[in-house]
Order: sequence, then C-alpha cells, then structure tokens
Amino acid sequence: MDKMVIDRIASRNYTAGVVNRFDFRIKKGYGQNFLVDQHVLGKIIRAADIKNDELVIEIGPGIGALTQELAERAEIVAAVEIDKALIPVLSETLSGYDNVEIINADILKTDVREIISKYNKKSAKVIANLPYYITTPIVMSLLELGECINSIVVMVQKEVALRMAAKPGTKDYGSLSLAVQFYSETSLVANVPTNCFYPRPGVDSAVIKLDVLSSPPVDVKDSELMFQIIRAAFSKRRKTLVNCLESSESMSAVFGSLSKADIEEILVSCDLPPKVRGESLGLEEFARLANLIEE
Ligand code: SAM
Repeated sequence: MDKMVIDRIASRNYTAGVVNRFDFRIKKGYGQNFLVDQHVLGKIIRAADIKNDELVIEIGPGIGALTQELAERAEIVAAVEIDKALIPVLSETLSGYDNVEIINADILKTDVREIISKYNKKSAKVIANLPYYITTPIVMSLLELGECINSIVVMVQKEVALRMAAKPGTKDYGSLSLAVQFYSETSLVANVPTNCFYPRPGVDSAVIKLDVLSSPPVDVKDSELMFQIIRAAFSKRRKTLVNCLESSESMSAVFGSLSKADIEEILVSCDLPPKVRGESLGLEEFARLANLIEE
C-alpha cells in the first residue's frame, strides 16, 4: 500500500467533509472532539513507538484520524467505539486497511483481556484520544489489568494529565497521582490547544504516556488499605493527615476507637511528623503507613 497517496483523515477539511457527507450529528455527551492536527498526531505516534508485530487497542476511533496512523504501523488495531452512527463512517474512512477491527461497544463494558487473547497476544498497547467524561475509570481499569497492557498513550484533559504526573508537594498532586504512579511511570508528551480539534473542546488537552510497571514501585502488603488511607488523606485538602484519618468514615472501621493521639503515635512510629499533611507524602510513605496499620 502506498501511504503517500492515501488522504490523511486528521485534517479539518477531511473531517468537516465526512461530517457533512454522512450528515453526522456530533455528540458532545460522548466527548466527540475529533483530532485534526497532523503535528499532534505525530507526537502521539512517536511516543507510542509501535512495532509491526504489536496489537494496539484504541478507545473511541471517532472517524478514524488516529486509527489510520495506528493501522499503518501496528500488526492489528482493535478499536472500540460506542457510537453506532460512526460504524458506517469508519467502514468508509478505513476501507483501505485490512488490519483494523472496529468493535461497537462501550469500553467500560468491554473485556480487554478477551480482545488480547482473541489475537493470540500476551499484551497490547493502548493508544487513544479519550472521551474526557470517563478518563479516570478507563485509565484505572486498564492499569489494574497489569502486564497485559504494555503502555498507554492517551490524550486527556490537560488538568487531568498534570494530576496524573504530579509529584508530592505540588498543587496538582492527589489520590489520582498516587493511583496512576502505583502502576506506571508517567511522562507528559505534549500540550494540545483547543484549535487542534473539530469541534473545539472547552478545555486544553495534553498527551500523557504511562509505561506500565512490571511490579509495584513500593512494597505494600494490602494495597486496598493503602488506597483507602490515600483517599481519606486527600478528602480534606487543608487538614492534617491525622484529622483526615480521624474524621474519615471508611477509616473508622480500621481505627476502631483509636484517638487522635493514638493515630499521631502511629505516624511518629512511621518516621512521619505528627502534623504532616497527606499532600507531602509519596507512595513510599503511604505504603509504610499501610503496612504498619495492617500489622
Ligand atoms: N479518536 C478520534 C480522534 O482522535 O479524532 C475521536 C476521539 S473523541 C475525543 C472520543 C471518541 O470516544 C468518540 O468517537 C466517542 O464516540 C468515543 N466514546 C465515547 N464514549 C465511549 C465509550 N464509553 N466507549 C467507547 N468509545 C467511546
């Protein structure tokens, strides 16, 4: 196939043409902001580093702008699209590619492991311009799948990308940073202004890469308990960790009748200052705390 003669889908003219020809109604509720910028697309593709024997899973192919680039590099692309009205559009825009399977389904109800085993693969890369209204559930459910996902390169709302990559003590740092960094190494790939999409979204975007870790970066006996502590620690931003833990309903089951002073003592025995705030603690400290509480 001669790549040079095939139209690039990711352009404003091509996208507007397809939308008009199919009389396609763009659905804001599905986060339909189509990428129309080749330069940004190039950055996603370079970050993803796709090999020609790899399976790529794309979430929300839209009219196929990113899918086209993936199909030209990967062995197989499985693209999960919720909007039924886009299926005939994709059959036309991607008619030149025989290594693309479009799955008309909701990604949150899709068994990603099943897709991987269907193609006799052990793992896949996930590459997508995500529907922003469900970024966190999508990313967390992929990360929880473990090693069958090699890496995730996704366009998300800029604010969410900054939160995912944030380090302790910074304004964007919170439970999402810790959850994502428990499973992966994060790197910000590109900032993407609103004029790179059709139609323009209301917020700036960014591309982030998550390299999935083969084992957690910290030694924690009960990761559920650690995340329960983390959620409690960030539930009230301005409060000290002790106050957050003491007033948290979910933690009261763990702490029983322990007083504030007792909880402070636990922190001190973890080498933490009694008045410490959750926002200054890294995964290492939360893991230590969870291990001690578990004991
Ligand atoms: N990949 C295309 C692009 O870059 O131009 C479209 C990206 S657009 C931001 C998000 C896409 O996700 C839309 O096509 C939308 O219909 C689809 N989508 C929304 N919710 C979905 C879900 N729960 N499962 C699968 N696809 C979904």
